[in-house]
Amino acid sequence: MNPEAQQDVSVSQGIRMMFYMMKPNETSFQTLEEVPDYVKQATPFFISLILLELVVSWILKGKPPGRLDDALTSISAGIFSRLPSLFSRSIELTTYIYIWENYRLISLPWHSPWTWYLTFLGVDFGYYWFHRMAHGGASTSHHHFPVARTEVNIMWAGHQTHHSSEDYNLSTALRQSVLQIYTSWIFYSPLALFIPPSVYAVHLQFNLLYQFWIHTEVINNLGPLELIINTPSHHRVHHGRNRYCIDKNYAGVLIIWDRIFGTFEAENEKVVYGLTHPINTFEPFKVQFHHLVYIWTTFWATPGFFNKFSVIFKGPGWGPGKPRLGLSEEIPEALSQVTLLLRVGFIILTLTSIGFLLDQRPKAAILETVRCLGFLMLYRFGHLKPFIPSLSFAFESSDLKLRAETLLTIVGCIPSTKLNRKRLSWAVNLPYALHQIEVGSN
Ligand SMILES: [Zn+2]
Ligand SMILES: [Zn+2]
Repeated sequence: MNPEAQQDVSVSQGIRMMFYMMKPNETSFQTLEEVPDYVKQATPFFISLILLELVVSWILKGKPPGRLDDALTSISAGIFSRLPSLFSRSIELTTYIYIWENYRLISLPWHSPWTWYLTFLGVDFGYYWFHRMAHGGASTSHHHFPVARTEVNIMWAGHQTHHSSEDYNLSTALRQSVLQIYTSWIFYSPLALFIPPSVYAVHLQFNLLYQFWIHTEVINNLGPLELIINTPSHHRVHHGRNRYCIDKNYAGVLIIWDRIFGTFEAENEKVVYGLTHPINTFEPFKVQFHHLVYIWTTFWATPGFFNKFSVIFKGPGWGPGKPRLGLSEEIPEALSQVTLLLRVGFIILTLTSIGFLLDQRPKAAILETVRCLGFLMLYRFGHLKPFIPSLSFAFESSDLKLRAETLLTIVGCIPSTKLNRKRLSWAVNLPYALHQIEVGSN
């Protein structure tokens, strides 16, 4: 895209675009080159709203809206997902332009508000079906509408990233998948038969941006708006792994699609967030690709040609002899509150211990030893998952595994001994000293 041709959004537009409150006449463009990169320009608004949510959460609930490590993982996934766009136009646009240029039936006028509103509906409808097909897990519910349920494992491999956060706040919205657009484009491509790419490119961005603000717990109920639009309450249900939440509320902007096609569920009992099989990691690559790796290994481990293809195209819960979407009994119950509290406590203890080590406090060794023992206890009773998951693979079963973990823990404790604390201090101070020498010699 030619950056000169694009407009910068004003502050007023910036705020309104986060809620899809844009007017057709200010967001209609003749060519694709003129369409602003709204998502890129939204960065200061993402940050401002995240800070605002932090303040409001402190005032209303006396606590932050989530954990720092989870939030950082979400933000890094958001950055990760934008990386391919640095090299080329996204596949969502390239395929669209190709269809438009070669197969379009009619060309709706780019400047008409009718085209604008129709595209708004079309993109949101496409998102609903993409999202619904991408989802995993079996459901216990009955559907009122006779639409076949069609979750596809390979699509879930992309979308699951967004659901891997176990907190629910505005940062969760940024936890986006790098793989998702490689399947989502299919659902928007029918629009290319009649809607100009420049109109589509605007709504594709607004549809995504709208879904930012609904990722929050500080907004409860929005009254009659809940009937028509997707709200924080509806989308909380979508992120839940309580049984009643599974495979519900696929809406992007309008909740009416869920109401029409029988996938709507109102929020009632407290939602527990995250994947039914939590990934317990903050590694960015794992957050993005672990399910793809899972499909790969299951593909090779499943006997039979047709079974192998079912692994890719049926639901994630599927296995030979099981229904298309797997068995509902296999969805584990949500993590207990005790485990959650212990984990949060352990992370705080770890961060404090690191702070003590960096400060070189005399008590650091004691605190670090307590932390290591705490780790062993929590791990032994199943409240923590291994920090190096690949290692637990190698020592699967037998007490060899426990011995390996003890060894690792002891290695982890070594920095707390006097000798190594000194070394740590060198490691921190040496670059500083070198820098001083350099500055001095100039
Ligand atoms: Zn989803
Ligand atoms: Zn979401």
